[in-house]
Amino acid sequence: MVDLRLGYDDWRAEVRQFLADELPPGKEFYLDYDEAEHKWDFAVEFTKKVSEKGWIGLTWPRAYGGLERSVVEQYILLEEFHRAEAPLLNLIGWSLTAGMLLYGGTEEQKATMLPEIASMKTIWAEGLTEPGAGSDLAGLTTSAVPDGDDWLVTGQKTYTTFGSRSDLLLAIVRTDPSAKRRHEGLSFFGVDLRAPGVTVQPLWNIAGGRQNHIFMDQVRVPASRLIGEVNRGWEYITRSFYTSGVPFLRHSTMERKYRLLTAYCTTAKRGGRLLIDDPEVRGKLAEIDIMMEVQRVLAETGLSDTVNGRRSDATSIYQVLAKESIPRFAQLAFEIVGPLGQLSGESPYAALHGELQAWYLQAFGNHAAGTPQIKRMVLATRGLGLPK
Ligand SMILES: Cc1cc2nc3c(=O)[nH]c(=O)nc-3n(C[C@H](O)[C@H](O)[C@H](O)COP(=O)(O)OP(=O)(O)OC[C@H]3O[C@@H](n4cnc5c(N)ncnc54)[C@H](O)[C@@H]3O)c2cc1C
Repeated sequence: MVDLRLGYDDWRAEVRQFLADELPPGKEFYLDYDEAEHKWDFAVEFTKKVSEKGWIGLTWPRAYGGLERSVVEQYILLEEFHRAEAPLLNLIGWSLTAGMLLYGGTEEQKATMLPEIASMKTIWAEGLTEPGAGSDLAGLTTSAVPDGDDWLVTGQKTYTTFGSRSDLLLAIVRTDPSAKRRHEGLSFFGVDLRAPGVTVQPLWNIAGGRQNHIFMDQVRVPASRLIGEVNRGWEYITRSFYTSGVPFLRHSTMERKYRLLTAYCTTAKRGGRLLIDDPEVRGKLAEIDIMMEVQRVLAETGLSDTVNGRRSDATSIYQVLAKESIPRFAQLAFEIVGPLGQLSGESPYAALHGELQAWYLQAFGNHAAGTPQIKRMVLATRGLGLPK
């Protein structure tokens, strides 16, 4: 098994030094749940510096603007960035779009679109979900019909994170309405979000972040923006979903929160006693620690299996645990801190400057990129081979 604590020390040190230099305390934030303009301005500047290092395309071939480094190095980079809660822009471009282009894009698309992502020229949003197609993605109805050398796209996407701040929407649409099965006859397009016929409306989430409704009415898309080949969309998404080497390491983000929580417990008192001296509190902190450690081991096992070409369910199990641990962590943090944790940052009495309240509200968004129930079902059927 790859033991990330034993190797790659120089690389990890380089990434940590970069973060120490470029991410001052107080600048970290979670882009999905914060729309403050000054924070986004910082996120742009910060990600430009990441781009200048060549780290956006860390694992991609050099011909496409990458550095051809290993997936283990990519994992370490992301682990450190998540742990610092670094505001990385364009993760959809880095992960979903890049993964799909590397898997199925034409040579010309790889040669033009990947360098544009690596250099921050294009920012992408993810256009999968529709009002009638979430977990059941194959139920989507947005369509594209050929018109000369172009395609005309019509339909609605929803829940689109970064939709108001992106250049292109990676949209899955129906290109063959006569296909026998629902998941056939689908294709991916890069739809220009500023093209005539596109309307973007806000969809505010409970934690103060913005998703969007994207309405498309006969939006003209050039054939060069049809990703790969027509009608192969389902294959592209199942084979390349987030496979550009960009894992979402939730346990690593949790570590930062855990450190803040533990530090709080060493100074805050209840009934004249420091929280950290309360056996109940210590037990709950230990539970969080176990949660994080189990996830870390699973994530590393998944990575090791990938590197060694072994078939494995470790990453799928990780995803279930990681998603379910988000609300569990928020609940435990609330129980540890008590009612002051429920106050927002605007209150002078708020514990941890309102961070706890934010974690709790954000925990309700753990169905992004697939609900825990669906992840469990996939694990049961594909991993354990149970009947559908
Ligand atoms: C913060 C956030 C950001 C998002 N960003 C994006 C984005 O950028 N782009 C994008 O395309 N989408 C995005 N999404 C949408 C997300 O992918 C969907 O919410 C998710 O796929 C679930 O779909 P749904 O909301 O339609 O729920 P549904 O699919 O309607 O599910 C509702 C409930 O029913 C359960 N359920 C459904 N089917 C089954 C079944 N067969 N068996 C058992 N239980 C079932 C689900 O687990 C869930 O609890 C985002 C969501 C959130 C919360």
